[in-house]
Amino acid sequence: MAPAAGRRQPVIGSMANMDDTAIQHAADLIEDADALVVAAGAGMGIDSGLPDFRGPGGFWAAYPALGRRGLEFYEVASPRTFETDPALAWGFYGHRLALYRETTPHAGFGIRKGWGERMFHGCRVFTSNVDGHFQRAGYGEDAITECHGSIHHLQCSRPCCGDVWSADEFVPVVDDATCTLVNDLPKCPWCGAIARPNIMMFGDMGWIDRRSKLQEADLRRWGDRATRIVVIELGAGTTIPSVRQFSHELVVNHGARLVRINPIEPAVPTQRDVSIAGPALAALQTIEAAIAARS
Ligand SMILES: [Zn+2]
Repeated sequence: MAPAAGRRQPVIGSMANMDDTAIQHAADLIEDADALVVAAGAGMGIDSGLPDFRGPGGFWAAYPALGRRGLEFYEVASPRTFETDPALAWGFYGHRLALYRETTPHAGFGIRKGWGERMFHGCRVFTSNVDGHFQRAGYGEDAITECHGSIHHLQCSRPCCGDVWSADEFVPVVDDATCTLVNDLPKCPWCGAIARPNIMMFGDMGWIDRRSKLQEADLRRWGDRATRIVVIELGAGTTIPSVRQFSHELVVNHGARLVRINPIEPAVPTQRDVSIAGPALAALQTIEAAIAARS
């Protein structure tokens, strides 16, 4: 998507600049809860060193070859590009696939996992991120809902059928100077058409959402059993609101309590909710320190 003009820059993280009342309130809710939902958007990955496409030129700074051609994020991340220029489409997604395979999730993933393990119903994840980092950080596959799909899975670009399969056997080789794939394109094993990531792209009518729908149905059944859910929402913006909508739904339908951690858009709907204006990792570490100080 195009960078929003005039958007405020993220708050640079430090433990000192976060409101202690909000931190203590978040710690109270975590200690009182019997179930933890981690709701994570794009801002979650920044502390792991993943590129941030926000801000003027953010996308082109990460992919200068696409900047030279004047191609925007929404144009490249599109099913149409897999038809018109599949080597370019896979240059972009192949680079991301390799990057996500190489990147170690930051310590915040482990902090929340520890909180969830102390709760009766444990922890579930709802994320719009396609990077597979919750799995890499040790969360069980059955604890994760990937509402926009996963780059670690493939599907047919037509699609000829509803099959979704692992991308593990595909090792992309990308020429960064041109952002193009230089090895063989992955193919659909059923019809031979080009395979694409099982991710919801811009203007995408062909995304096979079966895997995500099954994950979400399982998450809802789990939510029905819990009585005191706390939602820790991280780095979820309003531009693509899937994660925020899910958080709000848990608050309205399950009486969940919301802790929103966001350096740019920290506002919350009611005074029952907790707003922490800060980056994900620093906020989680500050809450963890507050909980530790009580014991
Ligand atoms: Zn096919």
